[in-house]
Amino acid sequence: MSGNIKIAALGLPRIGARRELKFALEGFWSGKLTEAELLAKAAELRAENWRRLQRLGVDVIPSNDFSLYDHVLDMAVTVGAVPERFEQVKAGGVLATYFAMARGSTGTERDACEHSHGDGVAALEMTKWFDTNYHYMVPELHAGQAFALAGEKPVAEYLEARALGIETRPVLLGPVSFLKLSKCVDGSDPLALLPRLLPLYVELLARLREAGAEWVQIDEPCLVLDLQEREREAYAFAFGALATKDAPKIMLATYFGGLGENLAVVSTLPVHGLHVDLVRAPDQLDAVLDAIRPESVLSLGVIDGRNVWRADLARLIERLEPVVRGRQGVVQIAPSCSLIHVPIDLELETELDVDLKTWLAFALQKIEELGVLKAALSGEAARVGERIEAATHALEARRRSAKVHSQAVAARLAQVRAGLTRRSLDFQSRRKLQNAALGLPSFPTTTIGSFPQTPEVRKARAAHRRGEIQTADYLSYLRRETEAAIRWQEEVGLDVLVHGEFERNDMVQYFGEQLSGYAFTSHGWVQSYGSRYVRPPVIFGDVSRPEPMTVDWAKFAQSLTDKPVKGMLTGPVTMLQWSFPRDDVPRETTCRQIALALRDEVQDLEAAGISIIQVDEPALREGLPLKQGEWHDYLEWAVDCFRLATCGVAAETQIHTHMCYAEFNDIIEAIEALDADVISIETSRSRMELLDAFSSHAYGKDIGPGVFDIHSPRVPPAEEMSELLQKAKDGLKPWQIWVNPDCGLKTRAWEEVRPALANMVEAARRLRSSV
Ligand code: GLN
Ligand code: ZN
Repeated sequence: MSGNIKIAALGLPRIGARRELKFALEGFWSGKLTEAELLAKAAELRAENWRRLQRLGVDVIPSNDFSLYDHVLDMAVTVGAVPERFEQVKAGGVLATYFAMARGSTGTERDACEHSHGDGVAALEMTKWFDTNYHYMVPELHAGQAFALAGEKPVAEYLEARALGIETRPVLLGPVSFLKLSKCVDGSDPLALLPRLLPLYVELLARLREAGAEWVQIDEPCLVLDLQEREREAYAFAFGALATKDAPKIMLATYFGGLGENLAVVSTLPVHGLHVDLVRAPDQLDAVLDAIRPESVLSLGVIDGRNVWRADLARLIERLEPVVRGRQGVVQIAPSCSLIHVPIDLELETELDVDLKTWLAFALQKIEELGVLKAALSGEAARVGERIEAATHALEARRRSAKVHSQAVAARLAQVRAGLTRRSLDFQSRRKLQNAALGLPSFPTTTIGSFPQTPEVRKARAAHRRGEIQTADYLSYLRRETEAAIRWQEEVGLDVLVHGEFERNDMVQYFGEQLSGYAFTSHGWVQSYGSRYVRPPVIFGDVSRPEPMTVDWAKFAQSLTDKPVKGMLTGPVTMLQWSFPRDDVPRETTCRQIALALRDEVQDLEAAGISIIQVDEPALREGLPLKQGEWHDYLEWAVDCFRLATCGVAAETQIHTHMCYAEFNDIIEAIEALDADVISIETSRSRMELLDAFSSHAYGKDIGPGVFDIHSPRVPPAEEMSELLQKAKDGLKPWQIWVNPDCGLKTRAWEEVRPALANMVEAARRLRSSV
C-alpha cells in the first residue's frame, strides 16, 4: 500500500517569501532593473520553490504555476490572444506587450477599489478569481478570434526545472475555464471559440510530452460552478480532443467547491486523474469515489488552500485510511487548491501571539502537514506520531483558549432579537426628520471618505510606527491635516464633510487593530493582483470592541465646523470578507459579532453629536457564494449584519453606505433591504448605466451616483459632471440624488482633488438652478 500515496502540490505562492517578485517588477518598471535581471530573479524564485517542495518530500511538483503577473494573462499570451490595440506596443518586445496588457501602456495605476485605468493603451479588465481576493486579467476575445501558439512558457518552465534535476507536472489553465473567464468584446459567446482554441492546447500538450512531461495538471475550476448543459457538453468535447496519444497524462484539477451535478460529465472524461476539493466540499467524497474509474489517480484536496489554520491531522488520517485502502490506483493528497491564496511561511512571523502561532499553517507548513499524512497513511505512523499529537494538542488548546472564546460576546449574540435590526421609523418618515435636522440643499454634495494619503501622511505614519516620532506629535500632525481638509471643504462649498481618514492605514486594518479577535501578520502577504499584495488579518477569536475606535476623530472634525461631518466606518461584511476567517464557527457568526461591535461604535458616534454615519460595504457582493443556490442564505445574514450594525440609531440620524463595483443587478433587493438612507456607488465610467439596476427596480431611497472617476488623474470639467447628473435624473427621482465622486480619494493628489471637487460642486449648483 505504501507506494500508493503521493503528495501533490497544485501551485505555490510565486511572490517570494520577502516579496522579491514585487520589488523586481517595480525595479524593472521604473527602469532600475534590466529585463535580464527581472527574468533572472523570476527564475531564482521558481528554482527556490521547486527545491523547497523537493526538500519537503513532495512527489508531484508543479511547474508553470509561476507567473510574472497573472496566470490567466499568461495563458492568453500563450495562445496568442493579444487584442489588436496592443499592436503599437509589440515593437517593444514580448515582455512590453505582456505588461501593457496587464497595466496599460502609460501611466496606468490602480487604486484601492482594484480597478485599472490606462491612458495610452488601456489594460485588459481585471476581475476577481472566483470567490478569492485574487484578481485576474480578463482575456479579451472576439467572434472568429484567431489563436496561435505564441508562447513557450509552460514548456520552458518544465525544461527549466528538469535542468535542475527536478521532474515536474506542468499546470495549465484548462480551455473551457479559460474561455468562460474571458469576454468577447462583440458580445458573442467566448465558448463558441472552443473548436478554434483546442488545436492550440493539443499542440501545447504534444510539446510538453515531447519535452518529457509524463503528466500535466489541467485546471478547470469552472467545474464547481452551476453549468448549463451546453457547457457540460463543452467539457466532453474539449477533453475528448485533448486526450490524444501524444499528450501527457491529464490530472484534471477542480477546486473552490464540489462538482455537484457536473460530476456525471467529469466521470466520463478521458483523463487519468481527478483532483477534488474536499475542504470546501467534504461531502462529495463518496459520490466521487463511486463515479471515477478504479484505475484513475485520485487527488484529494484535504488541506485548506484558502485559509491559514492548522489541520486536524488525526481526523484526516482516520478519514483517508479507508479511502486509500479501497483504491487500486494511486491516491494523491494535496492542498484543496493552489496555495497562492495563503502566505508562504509561518516561520517568518516572530511577532505573532505564541498561542495563535501554534494554531496556524501557511503554505510551507501545509506541505509539511501533507508529509505527516503521507507517512501515517503509508504505515509509518510511529515515525510521525509526535507530530500528529502536536497537531491534535494545538487544536485542543485552540478549542479551549480564552483568547478565542468570550462568554460576554456569546451571551450578547444570544440576545440579539429581530427588533435590533429595524429602524424605529420607515424610510420616508425618517427622511422628513433628517431633512429638517440637517437642512441640506437638494442634490447635496459629499465625498466618500478619504482624502489624499500623500507621501507626507504615509511618511509620518511609518515614522510613528517605527517610534521615530512621538505619538503626541503624530496626532497633532494628523489634527492639522484634518483641520485643513475641513477648512478646504467648507471653502469649496461641499454640503456634507468628511474628516479625511488621514489616521487610517487601511479600511480594514485600522478597525481590525482596535478589535479583539483580530491578529495581524508581519510577512503574511498574499497576491491581490500583479505586484499588489495584501496582508489579510486573521480573525482568530470572538470579536468585540474594547473601546470606541473613531469617536475622537469624528468629534474633533465636527467641532471645527457647523456643517455635518460624516462618521466613517467599514461594514461587518467587508471586515469579514477581507480577512482570513475562523474555521471553527460559521462566517455568519463572526459577521454578527463584528456587527455588534460596530453597532456600539455607531451609537457612540451618534451620542457624540455625529448626525450622519457612513458604513462602507464594498465587499458585500464579492461575498456571494459561487453557487447561486447559496446566495439567498448569504444575502440574508449579510443584510441582517449590516442592519444590526446600523439600526441602533434614532430616526433623525442618517445612515449612509458605499459600494464600489459594477454588478448591482443580482443584489439590488439586498441593497434595498440594507435600509440605508443614502447609498453612494461608482457609476461614472459606466456613464450612469449602473443606475439602471436601481431605477428598473424602483429603488426607493437616496443615491449618490459617482460623477467622477477617482482612478484617473484627469480632472473632469463641470459640464461633464452635469451631463452625467442629467442622465441620472432620467432614471431617478430628483429628490433621491446626491452628488459625489465614485469612491474615496486616498490614491489621488490634492492638485487633482481640489479642482475636481470644485467642478463637482459647480455641477450640483447648476443642477439646482435648472429645476
Ligand atoms: N471610505 C473609504 C474611502 O473613502 C471607502 C473605500 C472603498 O470603498 N474601498 O477611502
Ligand atoms: Zn469605493
